[in-house]
Formats: sequence, structure tokens, C-alpha cells
Amino acid sequence: MVDEIKDMEKYAEIHHVPIMQKEGIEFLLEFIKTHNIRKILEIGTAIGYSSSRMALVNSNIEITTIERDNDRYLEAVNNINKLGLDKQITLIFKDALEVNLDDKYNLIFIDAAKSQNIKFFEKYKYNLQENGYIITDNMHFHGMVFKEENEIESRNVRGLVRKIKEYKTFLENNDEFTTKFLDLGDGIAISKRKENHYE
Ligand code: SAH
Ligand code: MG
Repeated sequence: MVDEIKDMEKYAEIHHVPIMQKEGIEFLLEFIKTHNIRKILEIGTAIGYSSSRMALVNSNIEITTIERDNDRYLEAVNNINKLGLDKQITLIFKDALEVNLDDKYNLIFIDAAKSQNIKFFEKYKYNLQENGYIITDNMHFHGMVFKEENEIESRNVRGLVRKIKEYKTFLENNDEFTTKFLDLGDGIAISKRKENHYE
């Protein structure tokens, strides 16, 4: 693996940046290969780790990725330039709920504020190509979703766990999309438009 990628992993560990876990990223890269994914939208760039790994799968992959935190955005710009991936990756420094994109993507990867997952999904499903996929990371929220509420001390974490459970219910009961939940990494959801769905 290229040194820059290893450096990003180290940086993430030192600075507590929640980049995708090994098992999760490996699954995502394999998914991109097997489904011949060419155009990706990522919500939540952080320091550009997952976007760089995805771009390195194939030089004809194009990625647009959105980050609202200034320091992380700047770190991502730096990392992507170092890897020479700036032609493949477009970085947007903005809150993803305030961005409007016209393009359609084969894959939308949701990996930002866990409390906003339903909003991201509802907003960006219009940017999904007919046979595209929406993949969401952290469905297990670092294992927190398996705990009883009274085992979770922080009110903030309890709130987030509730939000993730709501999102799971939203996906399970969705008329327009079917979703598979995978016990990989920190829990991954893969959603696809139902074949018989007409808007
Ligand atoms: N996908 C990255 C990790 C992303 S961590 C990787 O695996 O390498 C989640 C990031 O989402 C954080 O950096 C956070 O600042 C960003 N984020 C959270 N809510 C956001 C929003 N509404 N719009 C844009 N970025 C957001
Ligand atoms: Mg994540």
C-alpha cells in the first residue's frame, strides 16, 4: 500500500478521526470493483481516507466528496494532492444539507453526522442513478446500538443511538428502497431502488 495511505491511517489514529475500519473499507473497495462503480458521491470526507482508497481502485473512478469541517477539509485537500488524485476527486467544503448537485451517481456513500442519515438519504436519493446503490457506514455506531439504553452513560450518545435505530427502521420500512444490513466493520447498510418502484 502507498505510504500516504499508511500516513493517513496513522494521522487518523493520533487525531481520533473516525475513518472507515479495515473490514469496512475492504468490503467497499470490493463492492466498487464487482459492481463496476464509476461515479461516487461521498457525504463526509474527513481527511480524504475513504475517498482516496476508492479513487485508487481504478483511475476512471470519479468522486465528489463533501466535508463541513474546515481543518479536516484542508487536511483532505493536502492528502489528495499528495497522492495526485485531484483529477479524480472533487472536494466540496460545505454542509452536505446545503449542497445541491445535479449529477447522478452509481454509488452514494453516507458517512457523516449519524443523526442526519435520514435527511442525507432523502435529499440525495434524487442524485442516484436508476440502478445505483446507497451505502451507509456505522450502522452499529461502535457497537453502541447493541447496548441497553441504561448502559449508555452519555445522553448525547444515547440520542445518537436512537437516531441510528430510527434510520434502520426507516430503511426497513422503505417503500422505494430495499436494504441489506451487513455485520462488517462498524455495520454497513446497502440500499437499492426496488425494481417495481415508479415515482
Ligand atoms: N468517510 C471518511 C470518514 C468520515 S468521518 C473516511 O472513512 O475516511 C465523518 C465526517 O463527516 C466528519 O469529518 C464530519 O466533519 C463530517 N460531517 C458530519 N456531518 C456533515 C455534514 N452535514 N456535511 C458535511 N460533512 C459532515
Ligand atoms: Mg464511518
